[in-house]
Amino acid sequence: MKTNKNFTKWPLIIAGPCSAETEEQTLETCKHLAETGLVDMLRAGVWKPRTKPGGFEGSGLIGLSWVAKAKELTGLPAGVEVATSKHVESALEFGMDMVWIGARTTGNPFSVQEVADALRGTEVLVLIKNPLTPDLELWSGAVARLLKVGVRPEQLRLAHRGFSFYGHGEYRNPPLWHLALEMRSRFPEIPMVCDPSHICGNRHRLGEVSQKAADLRYDGLIIESHIDPSIALSDASQQLTPASLATLLKSIRWRQSTTDNPEFVETLDKLRGQIDEIDTELIELLSRRMNISEQIGKVKKENDVAILQGSRWSSIVERSMLQAKKLDLNEAFLKTVLEAIHIESINRQNEVMNK
Ligand code: PEP
Ligand code: MN
Repeated sequence: MKTNKNFTKWPLIIAGPCSAETEEQTLETCKHLAETGLVDMLRAGVWKPRTKPGGFEGSGLIGLSWVAKAKELTGLPAGVEVATSKHVESALEFGMDMVWIGARTTGNPFSVQEVADALRGTEVLVLIKNPLTPDLELWSGAVARLLKVGVRPEQLRLAHRGFSFYGHGEYRNPPLWHLALEMRSRFPEIPMVCDPSHICGNRHRLGEVSQKAADLRYDGLIIESHIDPSIALSDASQQLTPASLATLLKSIRWRQSTTDNPEFVETLDKLRGQIDEIDTELIELLSRRMNISEQIGKVKKENDVAILQGSRWSSIVERSMLQAKKLDLNEAFLKTVLEAIHIESINRQNEVMNK
Protein backbone atom coordinates (compact mmCIF):
# COMPACT_ATOMS: atom_id res chain seq x y z
CA MET A 1 0.00 0.00 0.00
CA LYS A 2 1.29 3.47 -0.83
CA THR A 3 0.79 6.40 1.48
CA ASN A 4 1.74 9.66 -0.10
CA LYS A 5 2.21 11.92 2.89
CA ASN A 6 4.08 15.12 3.11
CA PHE A 7 6.33 15.02 6.16
CA THR A 8 7.91 18.42 5.75
CA LYS A 9 6.62 19.80 9.09
CA TRP A 10 9.54 21.29 11.01
CA PRO A 11 10.38 20.33 13.67
CA LEU A 12 8.80 16.90 13.32
CA ILE A 13 7.68 15.55 16.71
CA ILE A 14 7.18 11.79 16.87
CA ALA A 15 5.93 10.38 20.16
CA GLY A 16 4.37 7.25 21.56
CA PRO A 17 5.00 4.31 23.84
CA CYS A 18 8.19 2.28 23.67
CA SER A 19 5.90 -0.72 23.12
CA ALA A 20 2.27 -1.26 22.26
CA GLU A 21 1.43 -3.44 25.28
CA THR A 22 -2.36 -3.59 25.32
CA GLU A 23 -5.08 -2.06 23.19
CA GLU A 24 -6.15 0.22 26.02
CA GLN A 25 -2.62 1.43 26.82
CA THR A 26 -1.89 2.11 23.13
CA LEU A 27 -5.14 3.96 22.45
CA GLU A 28 -5.14 5.95 25.70
CA THR A 29 -1.52 7.04 25.29
CA CYS A 30 -2.00 8.05 21.65
CA LYS A 31 -5.31 9.80 22.31
CA HIS A 32 -3.74 11.95 25.05
CA LEU A 33 -0.71 12.67 22.89
CA ALA A 34 -2.92 13.82 20.03
CA GLU A 35 -4.90 16.04 22.40
CA THR A 36 -1.75 17.98 23.31
CA GLY A 37 -1.71 19.28 19.74
CA LEU A 38 2.10 19.11 19.91
CA VAL A 39 2.69 15.71 18.34
CA ASP A 40 2.88 15.18 14.57
CA MET A 41 3.27 11.43 14.39
CA LEU A 42 2.78 8.39 16.62
CA ARG A 43 5.32 5.66 17.33
CA ALA A 44 5.01 2.30 19.09
CA GLY A 45 7.17 -0.82 19.01
CA VAL A 46 5.31 -4.07 18.29
CA TRP A 47 8.37 -6.26 17.69
CA LYS A 48 10.92 -5.54 20.39
CA PRO A 49 14.52 -6.65 19.86
CA ARG A 50 15.50 -7.44 23.45
CA THR A 51 19.10 -7.79 24.49
CA LYS A 52 18.30 -10.93 26.49
CA PRO A 53 15.50 -13.46 25.98
CA GLY A 54 12.64 -13.47 28.43
CA GLY A 55 11.81 -9.75 28.35
CA PHE A 56 8.66 -8.39 26.74
CA GLU A 57 9.25 -9.09 23.05
CA GLY A 58 6.32 -7.09 21.76
CA SER A 59 2.71 -7.87 20.96
CA GLY A 60 3.26 -8.56 17.25
CA LEU A 61 0.46 -8.35 14.70
CA ILE A 62 -2.27 -7.73 17.23
CA GLY A 63 -0.20 -4.77 18.51
CA LEU A 64 0.07 -3.52 14.97
CA SER A 65 -3.73 -3.51 14.74
CA TRP A 66 -3.85 -1.34 17.91
CA VAL A 67 -1.40 1.14 16.37
CA ALA A 68 -3.54 1.23 13.21
CA LYS A 69 -6.56 1.90 15.44
CA ALA A 70 -4.69 4.70 17.25
CA LYS A 71 -3.90 6.25 13.88
CA GLU A 72 -7.56 6.13 12.90
CA LEU A 73 -8.74 7.44 16.27
CA THR A 74 -6.36 10.41 16.35
CA GLY A 75 -5.98 11.18 12.65
CA LEU A 76 -2.19 11.23 13.18
CA PRO A 77 0.23 9.26 11.01
CA ALA A 78 1.96 6.38 12.81
CA GLY A 79 4.97 4.12 12.61
CA VAL A 80 6.54 0.98 14.08
CA GLU A 81 10.02 -0.57 14.24
CA VAL A 82 10.88 -3.10 11.53
CA ALA A 83 13.75 -5.56 11.40
CA THR A 84 12.71 -8.12 8.75
CA SER A 85 10.93 -8.10 5.38
CA LYS A 86 7.92 -9.73 7.07
CA HIS A 87 7.73 -6.80 9.51
CA VAL A 88 7.82 -4.33 6.61
CA GLU A 89 5.08 -6.19 4.71
CA SER A 90 2.85 -6.28 7.79
CA ALA A 91 3.52 -2.61 8.63
CA LEU A 92 2.56 -1.60 5.08
CA GLU A 93 -0.52 -3.84 5.13
CA PHE A 94 -1.71 -2.09 8.29
CA GLY A 95 -1.22 1.31 6.66
CA MET A 96 1.77 2.54 8.64
CA ASP A 97 3.14 5.89 7.43
CA MET A 98 6.58 5.43 8.95
CA VAL A 99 8.89 2.59 9.86
CA TRP A 100 12.08 2.82 11.85
CA ILE A 101 15.15 0.65 11.73
CA GLY A 102 16.30 0.13 15.31
CA ALA A 103 19.85 0.49 16.59
CA ARG A 104 20.37 -3.27 16.84
CA THR A 105 19.26 -3.71 13.23
CA THR A 106 21.28 -0.85 11.70
CA GLY A 107 24.40 -2.68 12.88
CA ASN A 108 23.54 -5.72 10.76
CA PRO A 109 23.98 -5.21 7.00
CA PHE A 110 22.07 -8.45 6.19
CA SER A 111 18.99 -7.21 8.03
CA VAL A 112 19.28 -3.68 6.66
CA GLN A 113 19.45 -5.05 3.12
CA GLU A 114 16.43 -7.27 3.73
CA VAL A 115 14.42 -4.33 5.09
CA ALA A 116 15.62 -2.07 2.25
CA ASP A 117 14.55 -4.61 -0.39
CA ALA A 118 11.11 -4.85 1.21
CA LEU A 119 10.80 -1.04 1.16
CA ARG A 120 11.55 -0.72 -2.55
CA GLY A 121 8.90 1.44 -4.21
CA THR A 122 7.12 2.51 -1.03
CA GLU A 123 6.41 6.08 0.02
CA VAL A 124 6.60 5.64 3.79
CA LEU A 125 8.94 7.67 5.94
CA VAL A 126 11.98 5.62 7.00
CA LEU A 127 13.90 6.47 10.15
CA ILE A 128 17.37 4.98 10.47
CA LYS A 129 18.62 4.92 14.02
CA ASN A 130 22.36 5.01 14.60
CA PRO A 131 23.89 1.58 15.32
CA LEU A 132 24.78 0.66 18.91
CA THR A 133 28.48 1.03 18.18
CA PRO A 134 29.91 4.45 17.36
CA ASP A 135 30.55 3.36 13.78
CA LEU A 136 29.59 5.94 11.18
CA GLU A 137 30.42 3.58 8.33
CA LEU A 138 27.69 1.17 9.45
CA TRP A 139 25.20 4.03 9.81
CA SER A 140 26.21 5.47 6.43
CA GLY A 141 26.05 1.98 4.89
CA ALA A 142 22.45 1.60 6.06
CA VAL A 143 21.56 4.95 4.48
CA ALA A 144 23.31 3.94 1.25
CA ARG A 145 21.38 0.63 1.11
CA LEU A 146 18.06 2.46 1.38
CA LEU A 147 19.01 5.09 -1.19
CA LYS A 148 20.17 2.33 -3.51
CA VAL A 149 16.75 0.65 -3.60
CA GLY A 150 15.21 3.99 -4.54
CA VAL A 151 14.04 5.35 -1.19
CA ARG A 152 14.30 9.12 -1.69
CA PRO A 153 16.33 11.33 0.67
CA GLU A 154 13.14 13.27 1.54
CA GLN A 155 11.64 10.00 2.75
CA LEU A 156 14.56 9.32 5.07
CA ARG A 157 15.34 10.59 8.56
CA LEU A 158 18.48 9.92 10.54
CA ALA A 159 17.61 9.19 14.18
CA HIS A 160 20.32 9.86 16.75
CA ARG A 161 19.77 7.69 19.84
CA GLY A 162 23.23 7.65 21.40
CA PHE A 163 25.88 4.90 21.46
CA SER A 164 26.43 1.92 23.77
CA PHE A 165 29.43 1.79 26.04
CA TYR A 166 30.77 -0.50 28.72
CA GLY A 167 29.87 0.41 32.29
CA HIS A 168 27.48 2.89 33.88
CA GLY A 169 27.53 6.60 33.19
CA GLU A 170 25.31 9.63 33.26
CA TYR A 171 23.60 8.56 30.02
CA ARG A 172 22.22 5.15 29.05
CA ASN A 173 23.71 5.75 25.60
CA PRO A 174 26.14 8.69 25.49
CA PRO A 175 25.16 11.01 22.63
CA LEU A 176 28.67 11.65 21.22
CA TRP A 177 27.14 14.67 19.48
CA HIS A 178 30.14 15.16 17.20
CA LEU A 179 29.45 11.80 15.51
CA ALA A 180 25.85 12.71 14.79
CA LEU A 181 26.98 16.07 13.41
CA GLU A 182 29.56 14.37 11.21
CA MET A 183 26.79 12.10 9.93
CA ARG A 184 24.69 15.14 9.13
CA SER A 185 27.46 16.67 7.12
CA ARG A 186 27.84 13.40 5.20
CA PHE A 187 24.13 13.48 4.31
CA PRO A 188 23.11 17.15 4.34
CA GLU A 189 19.93 16.40 2.39
CA ILE A 190 18.61 13.96 5.02
CA PRO A 191 16.97 15.53 8.08
CA MET A 192 18.01 14.29 11.51
CA VAL A 193 15.82 13.75 14.56
CA CYS A 194 17.01 13.16 18.10
CA ASP A 195 15.81 10.32 20.33
CA PRO A 196 16.44 11.74 23.81
CA SER A 197 14.63 8.79 25.46
CA HIS A 198 17.22 6.19 24.50
CA ILE A 199 20.12 8.60 25.01
CA CYS A 200 19.05 9.39 28.58
CA GLY A 201 17.51 6.14 29.80
CA ASN A 202 15.77 8.19 32.49
CA ARG A 203 13.32 11.08 32.64
CA HIS A 204 15.58 13.62 34.32
CA ARG A 205 17.70 14.81 31.44
CA LEU A 206 15.18 14.52 28.60
CA GLY A 207 14.56 18.29 28.55
CA GLU A 208 18.24 19.17 28.52
CA VAL A 209 19.09 16.70 25.74
CA SER A 210 16.07 17.78 23.66
CA GLN A 211 17.06 21.43 24.00
CA LYS A 212 20.61 20.62 22.95
CA ALA A 213 19.23 18.90 19.84
CA ALA A 214 17.15 22.01 19.11
CA ASP A 215 20.20 24.22 19.62
CA LEU A 216 22.14 22.05 17.17
CA ARG A 217 19.34 22.55 14.67
CA TYR A 218 18.06 18.98 14.59
CA ASP A 219 14.88 18.56 12.60
CA GLY A 220 12.72 17.02 15.32
CA LEU A 221 12.42 14.45 18.06
CA ILE A 222 11.31 10.87 18.50
CA ILE A 223 10.42 10.51 22.14
CA GLU A 224 8.72 7.86 24.27
CA SER A 225 5.50 8.43 26.17
CA HIS A 226 3.34 5.99 28.15
CA ILE A 227 -0.01 6.57 29.79
CA ASP A 228 1.43 5.10 33.03
CA PRO A 229 5.23 4.77 32.83
CA SER A 230 5.41 3.08 36.25
CA ILE A 231 3.90 -0.11 34.80
CA ALA A 232 5.50 0.03 31.32
CA LEU A 233 6.73 -3.37 30.11
CA SER A 234 9.81 -1.86 28.42
CA ASP A 235 11.92 1.23 29.08
CA ALA A 236 9.78 2.24 32.09
CA SER A 237 12.32 4.65 33.56
CA GLN A 238 12.65 6.82 30.45
CA GLN A 239 8.99 7.20 29.45
CA LEU A 240 6.90 10.30 30.21
CA THR A 241 3.16 10.64 30.62
CA PRO A 242 1.57 12.56 27.73
CA ALA A 243 1.01 15.51 30.11
CA SER A 244 4.69 15.65 31.15
CA LEU A 245 5.70 15.29 27.53
CA ALA A 246 3.53 18.27 26.63
CA THR A 247 5.26 20.36 29.34
CA LEU A 248 8.64 19.30 28.00
CA LEU A 249 7.74 20.02 24.37
CA LYS A 250 6.41 23.47 25.26
CA SER A 251 9.67 24.30 27.04
CA ILE A 252 11.92 23.61 24.04
CA ARG A 253 13.09 26.57 22.00
CA TRP A 254 13.67 25.60 18.40
CA ARG A 255 16.13 28.05 16.90
CA GLN A 256 15.95 29.48 13.43
CA SER A 257 18.90 28.61 11.21
CA THR A 258 19.63 32.25 10.50
CA THR A 259 18.10 35.73 10.36
CA ASP A 260 18.29 38.72 8.01
CA ASN A 261 18.84 41.16 10.88
CA PRO A 262 21.80 43.22 9.53
CA GLU A 263 23.25 43.84 12.99
CA PHE A 264 23.36 40.09 13.65
CA VAL A 265 24.93 39.39 10.25
CA GLU A 266 27.59 42.06 10.77
CA THR A 267 28.48 40.95 14.31
CA LEU A 268 28.61 37.31 13.29
CA ASP A 269 30.86 38.14 10.32
CA LYS A 270 33.25 40.03 12.58
CA LEU A 271 33.40 37.26 15.18
CA ARG A 272 33.88 34.60 12.52
CA GLY A 273 36.73 36.64 11.04
CA GLN A 274 38.42 36.63 14.45
CA ILE A 275 37.94 32.88 14.79
CA ASP A 276 39.44 32.29 11.34
CA GLU A 277 42.49 34.40 12.22
CA ILE A 278 42.99 32.56 15.50
CA ASP A 279 42.63 29.17 13.76
CA THR A 280 45.32 30.19 11.27
CA GLU A 281 47.62 31.16 14.13
CA LEU A 282 46.84 27.94 16.01
CA ILE A 283 47.74 25.84 12.98
CA GLU A 284 50.98 27.75 12.44
CA LEU A 285 51.88 27.28 16.10
CA LEU A 286 51.10 23.56 15.92
CA SER A 287 53.31 23.23 12.88
CA ARG A 288 56.15 25.02 14.67
CA ARG A 289 55.68 22.83 17.73
CA MET A 290 55.87 19.66 15.61
CA ASN A 291 59.04 20.88 13.90
CA ILE A 292 60.62 21.32 17.32
CA SER A 293 59.49 17.79 18.27
CA GLU A 294 61.37 16.53 15.22
CA GLN A 295 64.49 18.37 16.30
CA ILE A 296 64.14 16.79 19.75
CA GLY A 297 63.83 13.41 17.99
CA LYS A 298 67.11 14.06 16.17
CA VAL A 299 68.94 14.98 19.38
CA LYS A 300 67.57 11.93 21.17
CA LYS A 301 68.63 9.69 18.28
CA GLU A 302 72.14 11.07 18.29
CA ASN A 303 72.38 10.39 22.02
CA ASP A 304 70.53 7.06 21.96
CA VAL A 305 67.85 8.27 24.37
CA ALA A 306 64.26 6.88 24.47
CA ILE A 307 61.41 9.02 23.11
CA LEU A 308 59.15 8.90 26.12
CA GLN A 309 60.21 10.62 29.27
CA GLY A 310 57.31 10.33 31.70
CA SER A 311 58.29 13.08 34.10
CA ARG A 312 58.56 15.61 31.28
CA TRP A 313 55.05 14.81 30.06
CA SER A 314 53.52 15.03 33.56
CA SER A 315 55.17 18.40 34.11
CA ILE A 316 53.74 19.70 30.80
CA VAL A 317 50.24 18.55 31.83
CA GLU A 318 50.60 20.00 35.33
CA ARG A 319 51.77 23.38 34.09
CA SER A 320 49.05 23.52 31.42
CA MET A 321 46.32 22.65 33.91
CA LEU A 322 47.39 25.54 36.13
CA GLN A 323 47.29 27.87 33.15
CA ALA A 324 43.88 26.46 32.11
CA LYS A 325 42.47 27.28 35.51
CA LYS A 326 43.74 30.86 35.33
CA LEU A 327 42.36 31.36 31.82
CA ASP A 328 38.98 29.75 32.55
CA LEU A 329 39.52 26.88 30.14
CA ASN A 330 37.83 23.54 30.79
CA GLU A 331 40.55 21.19 32.08
CA ALA A 332 39.12 18.03 30.49
CA PHE A 333 38.98 19.82 27.14
CA LEU A 334 42.56 21.01 27.41
CA LYS A 335 43.70 17.53 28.41
CA THR A 336 42.12 16.10 25.25
CA VAL A 337 43.91 18.70 23.12
CA LEU A 338 47.25 18.11 24.85
CA GLU A 339 46.94 14.36 24.47
CA ALA A 340 46.30 14.68 20.74
CA ILE A 341 49.35 16.94 20.43
CA HIS A 342 51.44 14.54 22.48
CA ILE A 343 50.50 11.54 20.31
CA GLU A 344 51.41 13.41 17.11
CA SER A 345 54.61 14.67 18.71
CA ILE A 346 55.64 11.09 19.59
CA ASN A 347 54.80 9.97 16.04
CA ARG A 348 57.02 12.70 14.57
CA GLN A 349 59.92 11.85 16.91
CA ASN A 350 59.46 8.18 16.13
CA GLU A 351 59.71 8.87 12.38
CA VAL A 352 62.93 10.82 12.86
CA MET A 353 64.47 8.21 15.14
CA ASN A 354 63.78 5.32 12.79
CA LYS A 355 64.77 6.99 9.56
C1 PEP B 1 12.85 1.93 20.56
O1 PEP B 1 12.76 2.97 19.88
O2 PEP B 1 11.99 1.56 21.37
C2 PEP B 1 14.10 1.17 20.45
C3 PEP B 1 14.16 -0.13 20.69
O3 PEP B 1 15.13 1.94 20.13
P1 PEP B 1 16.69 1.62 19.78
O4 PEP B 1 16.66 0.76 18.58
O5 PEP B 1 17.20 2.98 19.55
O6 PEP B 1 17.26 0.94 21.00
MN1 MN C 1 12.34 1.98 23.91
